[in-house]
Amino acid sequence: MEWYLPELLNSMNQAQDFYFDSVSQIVLDRWYENRVALMGDACQSVSLIAGQGSALAMAGAYILAGELKTHGDNYQKAFETYQNKMLPEIRRKQEMAKDFANSFIPDTKISLWFRNKISKLITKPLFSKFFIKRFMSDSLQLEDY
Ligand SMILES: Cc1cc2nc3c(=O)[nH]c(=O)nc-3n(C[C@H](O)[C@H](O)[C@H](O)COP(=O)(O)OP(=O)(O)OC[C@H]3O[C@@H](n4cnc5c(N)ncnc54)[C@H](O)[C@@H]3O)c2cc1C
Repeated sequence: MEWYLPELLNSMNQAQDFYFDSVSQIVLDRWYENRVALMGDACQSVSLIAGQGSALAMAGAYILAGELKTHGDNYQKAFETYQNKMLPEIRRKQEMAKDFANSFIPDTKISLWFRNKISKLITKPLFSKFFIKRFMSDSLQLEDY
């Protein structure tokens, strides 16, 4: 990272707006306890590297609401089904984000160059189609409840 530091410090000093944060995931094996169930980033944060956190949070909320409707008073069953439907896909996205982290936040000059080239390519229709299919698609089934 040393090669990057002077450039980075210079940009920070000149920036009118500057965003700095750590990147985290929430990896939980159980998303509910008694009458409480978690949703969104609280249980299934995939991080900004995966993207889609908002979309996945909404999908989770939809499935949870649907399962509560289906199972009536049996909220434990609803919570369990909700978790079973979401968890495998969330894990897959979390693993994918971890694999992708080095490319997303490069630590060498060459990988930074490469990432910037790829980022430009993503705007091209053919490449964006491939990219979306490979990294942004998911296997979640949203039923009509
Ligand atoms: C830089 C960045 C870029 C992102 N880009 C994308 C993207 O392009 N697409 C995408 O789909 N997702 C993206 N995400 C992820 C997305 O923002 C989250 O997955 C999503 O906001 C999760 O929604 P949530 O409602 O679960 O949590 P949050 O949006 O975090 O909402 C939780 C709320 O609870 C409040 N809160 C916390 N503690 C308390 C308390 N004790 N009492 C009362 N209120 C409290 C917080 O203030 C907050 O308003 C990005 C995230 C980051 C950080």
